[in-house]
Parts: sequence; C-alpha cells; structure tokens
Amino acid sequence: MDKNKTHRLYYEDPYRVEFEAEIVERLVSENKPALVLDQTCFYPESGGQPSDQGTIEGVVVIKIVEEGEKIIHVLEREVPAQRIKGKIDWTARFDHMQQHSGQHILSQAFYEILKGETLSFHLGAGSSTVEIGIVKIGEEELGRVEKRANAIIFEDRAIKTTSIDQEKIGEIPLRKPPKKEGLIRVVEVDGFDYSACGGTHCRRTGEIGLIKITKWERIRNNLRFEFVCGWRALADYGLKNGIVRQLTGRFSVKEGDVLASLGKLSEDLKASRKLAKKSEEKLAVFEAQEFMTKAEGKIIKEVFAEKTPDSAKFLALTIVKQGDFIVLFAAKSEARSHLILAASENLKIDMRRLVPIISPDINGKGGGSPVFVEIAGDPGADLSAALAKAQAFIKNWVC
Ligand SMILES: [Zn+2]
Repeated sequence: MDKNKTHRLYYEDPYRVEFEAEIVERLVSENKPALVLDQTCFYPESGGQPSDQGTIEGVVVIKIVEEGEKIIHVLEREVPAQRIKGKIDWTARFDHMQQHSGQHILSQAFYEILKGETLSFHLGAGSSTVEIGIVKIGEEELGRVEKRANAIIFEDRAIKTTSIDQEKIGEIPLRKPPKKEGLIRVVEVDGFDYSACGGTHCRRTGEIGLIKITKWERIRNNLRFEFVCGWRALADYGLKNGIVRQLTGRFSVKEGDVLASLGKLSEDLKASRKLAKKSEEKLAVFEAQEFMTKAEGKIIKEVFAEKTPDSAKFLALTIVKQGDFIVLFAAKSEARSHLILAASENLKIDMRRLVPIISPDINGKGGGSPVFVEIAGDPGADLSAALAKAQAFIKNWVC
C-alpha cells in the first residue's frame, strides 16, 4: 500500500456515493484531525471545481485537499476505526457534475463560434463563471453560443473518459494543451470537445439539462460569463418567472409590457418628485412667514414630528434669508434625529460653536458653516431639551 498515493474511485465511477477504505495515515490540519485513505470517492478541490461534501464513519468531512498524489480528508472530529465507510453527498456531487460538464460544452461553443478561448473556470456556490478571451459580444452572437451549447445537450451525446499517454496526446484535438505529464486523462464530449481534465462529469450530455448564461462583464481585457446548468438553471428560471409573475399581477400588464410599464412609472415618479419639491418650496415661504410671527425675540424654535430633515432644512434657510433670525429646528429621519441650526448672516454669529455643546446630548456628530449647522444623532434623543440648551447659550451670546 502506497501511503503517498490515494486511489481515486471517482475517476472510475463518479456516480458511486459509498465506499470502504483503510486509513493509511493520520494527520492534523489546522487543529483538525485529517486522514489519508488507500482509496476514496471524495473529490478534492482542484481545477475550478470545489471539494465534495459528505461523511466518514458519520463524521462530517470539512474539506478535501490534494497534496501531490495523495488526498487528505479534514474531519470535524477523530474517527477511531482503522477501516472506514465513507459517503459523499450525492446532491452536491451531481450539481458539480452538471455545472462542470456544462462548462466543457460552453467553452467549446465559445471556441467554435467566436474562437474565444477559456482562460479560467470557477464553479461557485450559486453560479459558475468562465473567462473567455474575447473583447466584446453582441446579443446575437451570445444567442448562437447558448443555442449551440444547448443543442449538444439535447442531442444527449456520450461523455467519455480515457487515459492517453503523453507521447500520443498530439493525436487528440484537445481544446487546450494539458498541464500534467505522463498519463493524461482526456474527457470527450462525443465528437464535440476534448479536454484534459481531472474533474467529475456526467455520463451523457442530456443529464446537464440546460445551460443558461445569466450575465457577463468585462474583466482585464476579456469577458467573464456567469452561467447555470441543470437544477440550478431550473431554480433560476423559477426565481425569474416568479418575479415577472408578481410584476404582471401588480401592474396588471402582460409579460411583454412589464418593462415599458416600469419605465413609465419611473418617469412619472421623477415628475411627481419635481412637482412636490416646487410645491414644498412655495409652501415654505408661507410657513416661514408664520414662524417669523411666533419668534421669541430673534429665536425661532420647533421640534417637528412630521417634517423630514430635508424640508426642515429648507424652511430654516428660507426664514434666515427673509429676516434677522436664529432658527433652531429638530426633525427625525428613519434612523437618526437631526438638529438644524441656522442664523442670518447679518447677526454675525458662528453657529458652529453650538456643535460641541449640544452634540453629546443626542450622541451626535455634525458641522457646517458659520450660518448653518446640522447635527445627526440617536433617534430616541430628547430633541426639545437639546434645542432648549442651544437657546440658552444663544441668548447669552446675542440677546
Ligand atoms: Zn472537466
């Protein structure tokens, strides 16, 4: 038994989920017990494909690492037995097989149609990505790539694995030159794609179900495509269909009209906001007059229950423009309370002097100019008390 080489059962049969093995080495990895077995079904993270999940003697396998030719299984806790039973999580394995086999087909479709080479592949938890060596793509070209890839799936072609000696590898039309030497594992999507690959794949393309590119973006000088295959594609379709169904229900429109309806709604909203702002500005002039008649000397003080900090600010600025006043306002937004302190320029008061005096009372922070200061603090703070304190200080300065 060679303890430096683990026999990889997933090469022979990626559909096998249970196995028995002898422990050939016990290690510690990041303070967790780890095992090397004489053989394993567990796939170690490599080539863009994540590790399998599963258990050994009922103990959770945290991760599986490849070290040369041996595979290290890091466990949640120690396994006392010398001969073990292992079980991989079939749902996760089959998901990886669908995404990975789909990637081979998608990569070849990109190459066949756009001469775009696959520069990297990542199989993620939610979606997978391939970085393709092309600088741009149109909707029509993208459609052709997707259609070609799915045609290969619907033809239900065989996916075969063979081991080819390095010397003879030149006879195989590989999409990319192999990274390994010696015996090279070649995965063939019957008559369509030949890749040197050590991952787990489906037996037939039909098992991949469907490939859908969900988005793409520029990265370096290339394009990176996000895609989903198989069960993930179905889940993605379900999610998006659900969103469209809710939108058609909410706006009482047909599917095809959803975008136009949303566009119109967004325009209407913009126009309404503009109108509301204008009305508020007009109203503020009248409101300012009313507040000026209620001034105590030069000071106008109010805690607003319903006004937003922005409209309180607008009103304060309107007042100090119309006469020699000092305005002390308080208003609340959703998560913060706001003190808005303004003074007419003629009065020559530096309102910033109030900041260190009243900020601690509302656990707030703020600043501004000599004639306008805003302090934001705790939503539950006693704003009346804070304004009263500000008023007392101001009286000493000016009145
Ligand atoms: Zn592969």
